[in-house]
Amino acid sequence: MPLYVVATPIGNLGDLTARAREVLAACDGVVAEDTRHSGKLLEHLGIGGKPFTALPAFDEAARVEPIVRRLLEGASLALVTDAGTPGISDPGALLVRRAVEDGVPVIPVPGASAAVAAVSVSGFVEGRFHFAGFLPRKVSHRDEMLAELLPLRAQLVFYEAPQRLHETLLSLQAALGDRPALVARELTKLHEELARGTLSELARHFAGEVRGEVVIVVTGAREEAQPQDPAALEAEVRARLARGERPKDIAEALSGDHPKRAVYQLALKLKANQS
Ligand code: SAM
Repeated sequence: MPLYVVATPIGNLGDLTARAREVLAACDGVVAEDTRHSGKLLEHLGIGGKPFTALPAFDEAARVEPIVRRLLEGASLALVTDAGTPGISDPGALLVRRAVEDGVPVIPVPGASAAVAAVSVSGFVEGRFHFAGFLPRKVSHRDEMLAELLPLRAQLVFYEAPQRLHETLLSLQAALGDRPALVARELTKLHEELARGTLSELARHFAGEVRGEVVIVVTGAREEAQPQDPAALEAEVRARLARGERPKDIAEALSGDHPKRAVYQLALKLKANQS
């Protein structure tokens, strides 16, 4: 009676895991976003002929109940989508929620996901990421979401259709500033491209016709400069002067945290007062 949530490749069929193949071969039936598409995958794997049930994104809510009934009757079913991990900008979440509510064991069979693949090669070092999926089409909803994302100190990951990429890069630049970003196009496929640059540079790069599938990864908000504590700065400068350091060197040493010129002038003033 388990529901297996099975990741399938996002392009390169070699990315299907051995465990995914085993589960697909052994289950009683497959629940698929598009039965024809996944039918071809199973044929390719040499495990065709499975009973299929459709779970298209536009009709997920209406199709979930009979699937949960079959699980409760004892069938083991594998959920797959057209590419990548179910539930990640794909149908699956509603079925999983209903299965959990009815006590059906839900078992992940992990594998490819375009978001994680893109983050793994971003080289951005925030140490965390926020998966935003597709931005809303409606401008007011889009602006609202981008305003929420603006202060996050995490990489921001967006899915987008190729024909909207240019416009979306410009919207991101307008809302978030001209941050460094990555466009990962056609991951794991023949024409894979990892384009790096600021959002405006990438918008220029992708100004013409864009083909294939794309993920956008944008760096997070930068650390705000720490509010300066004038008393602590003065104490630090006094201590350095007492050790015989020159104002120019003190300004240089503290320039990472404070404006250099201001530290230099403070050091000159304190030095003058010393003598
Ligand atoms: N469930 C999938 C996953 O785990 O990645 C995502 C499905 S969502 C409907 C499709 C979007 O994922 C595409 O519009 C694109 O943004 C991204 N995507 C899927 N495959 C990709 C690939 N090979 N290269 C780049 N982006 C991809």
